[in-house]
Amino acid sequence: METSIPLSRPDISEEDIAAVNDVLRSNTLSLGPTGPLFEQEIAAFCGRKYAVAVNSGTSALHLGIRALGIKKGDEIITTPFSFVASVNCFVYEGAVPRFVDILESTYCIDPEAVERAITPKTKAILAVDVFGYMADWPALEAIAKKHNLLLIEDSCEALGSTMNGKHAGAFGEFGAFAFYPNKQMTTGEGGVLVTDRKDIADLAKSMRNQGRSITSSWLSHERLGYNFRLSDMQSALGRSQLKRLPAFIEARRRRAEWYNRDLESLGKDVITPSVQEGVSVSWFVYVVRLAHKFTAKDRDAILRFLREKGIGCNNYFPCLHLQPVYADLGYTLGSFPVSESVSDRTISLPFHNTLTEKEISRVCGTLADAIHSLSVP
Ligand SMILES: *Cc1c(COP(=O)(O)O)cnc(C)c1O
Repeated sequence: METSIPLSRPDISEEDIAAVNDVLRSNTLSLGPTGPLFEQEIAAFCGRKYAVAVNSGTSALHLGIRALGIKKGDEIITTPFSFVASVNCFVYEGAVPRFVDILESTYCIDPEAVERAITPKTKAILAVDVFGYMADWPALEAIAKKHNLLLIEDSCEALGSTMNGKHAGAFGEFGAFAFYPNKQMTTGEGGVLVTDRKDIADLAKSMRNQGRSITSSWLSHERLGYNFRLSDMQSALGRSQLKRLPAFIEARRRRAEWYNRDLESLGKDVITPSVQEGVSVSWFVYVVRLAHKFTAKDRDAILRFLREKGIGCNNYFPCLHLQPVYADLGYTLGSFPVSESVSDRTISLPFHNTLTEKEISRVCGTLADAIHSLSVP
């Protein structure tokens, strides 16, 4: 059997390892000099004034939600086609998801659907930059302004993407990045909240560190806080990876192009990613969509076929309104036709910085075999 091709793989260099080792030898493993440097560099990278490094992307979103004062009973408009953390982050605070559908072209929130879902209880719009694509920020900004709503950017999948020159993470009251090993860059686990608002940054800094005051003594706790700190070892890996990020983004862009080229031979059966005008995508994953004639069952058969041939793949994303955890919200199959139809037919293919051209043609060839093995006319 041929060697297997993983769905994702982190890209760790000797330089990255040396950077972590330097911290290990320093005796200051957690709150040391490296974290603040990492924060400054991330803020500068995405064009924000402040960055607060935390232990996950989920924590970054959660602290931002708390810093905005979102509370029990507030409604937040967001989409069901996402990773569960983009909803969990405010459900923790008792806020209620009001799901709306996505646009098939970008997999991101449909601004017209947002406007229809606003009620007197609506507090915020939380839009996700899905797979590295960008939500329609100009439209969302106009709606948020008109209805006096907070705007939040889950940019966890889009570090390095830009829209009309403005970086993902730079829209809304705050943005959030995540550094799990399958993201564009990694710290093992980790995340960062980015914002231009000093009040949000200060509250997030206090809450990530047991509610300590950010200026006074270690044993003064001013508010309910958490231990959401990012260690200096992780920050060192983050700084080293961030230096390499432009090369990562370029490597991923080339691989997305190789995929697009190799998949052309599959014609209309496989819809390759389309990128909006004015957007430069930093590719998180490479996701294709099967044509409408295919069902979720066909898609699952294709996933099995690929896995049997040693090719990592997954169905990004199952819809959140159909997940057991959110069953009690009252949504059903049919509530969000675009999200459901997309979710039934998407396939995430192997994607990482060091994937070779040959491996990509093997993936595409196997995908073609998988499709031909189905009896879909
Ligand atoms: C990765 C991700 C997060 C955060 O994930 P963590 O594992 O907590 O770092 C949040 N939202 C989306 C859309 C993501 O893809």
